[in-house]
Amino acid sequence: MDCDKCGDEAVMHAAYSGLHMCGSCFTRSVEKRVRRRIREDGLVPEDATPDDPDTWVIGLSGGKDSVVLTQILYDVFEQDPRIELVALTIHEGIEGYRDASVEACVELAETLGIRHELVTYEEEFGVRMDEVVEDDPEEMAPCAYCGVFRRDLLERYAAELGADKMLTGHNLDDEAQTALMNFLEGDVNQVAKHFDASLGAFEDRSDQETFVPRAKPLRDVPEKEVALYAHLEDLPAHITECPHASEAYRGEIQELLLKLEENHPGTRHSIMAGYEELARVASEQFREGGPDLGECDRCGAPTNREVCRKCYLVDAVGGELAD
Ligand code: SF4
Ligand code: ZN
Repeated sequence: MDCDKCGDEAVMHAAYSGLHMCGSCFTRSVEKRVRRRIREDGLVPEDATPDDPDTWVIGLSGGKDSVVLTQILYDVFEQDPRIELVALTIHEGIEGYRDASVEACVELAETLGIRHELVTYEEEFGVRMDEVVEDDPEEMAPCAYCGVFRRDLLERYAAELGADKMLTGHNLDDEAQTALMNFLEGDVNQVAKHFDASLGAFEDRSDQETFVPRAKPLRDVPEKEVALYAHLEDLPAHITECPHASEAYRGEIQELLLKLEENHPGTRHSIMAGYEELARVASEQFREGGPDLGECDRCGAPTNREVCRKCYLVDAVGGELAD
């Protein structure tokens, strides 16, 4: 098959668009989608200047998504001093998994010459994920602990690093899965939160100034295309799966979506198009009627309980917060 754009040999076929593309037309098309998303979400503020740049903290795990995101953002803003990029990596303490992906992060940040910060559960909470899984005092899935700890560190360190925005590498498949899960679970609060986590950067969030706005510039790019991009550009992405991965429900939804996509190309895009509108409404409603958040007695994080979920879990697993 020939590339529909230039006639060279095609390396991929996107059923949802009907296009066959060669390597260079494909990588260009991914970059174009990311640029468009940055523009449409209004991520670059008009008042950013080289003297007072907008600081973007990227959650860099070393997996293909965050590595591709970091590389493309670097390429887009290399010549633009209005944007400052900082990479933030979280080490959960998972033997044989995170060490290799941290190496990928260090290598990429060094190659690009961008600031890179590494924080660990061990130093921050006094426990490693491997120990948490072993003890499991709350009888929960590993990811239920890990997600709370990671979110806390990402938010806290993003704020500490002076982030104006926090960016993560979620792709189209991740987003469509989350959308479908929220629907099937009937959880409107989750829908509202998902909207805030995906699109927060361009909405007026001044009513929630404790949170760093978030953005997901890869959310128009299917997972398979992110992987192909990493491969074609020879990026140092780490591909092993976490040994504690336990989101069984997400796996089922993923299979279902891939099947739907195969039979009805474009399903992921259409889910997201409709969902975003609904989620915006849910978010507005939720914020208006939402609870006023107080502060955690122990760590000061915003919460509607006395002690936030993270502090509760750190206690439960026998850890200790760093000073
Ligand atoms: Fe943590 Fe679960 Fe991700 Fe493993 S798969 S790093 S346990 S959230
Ligand atoms: Zn707390």
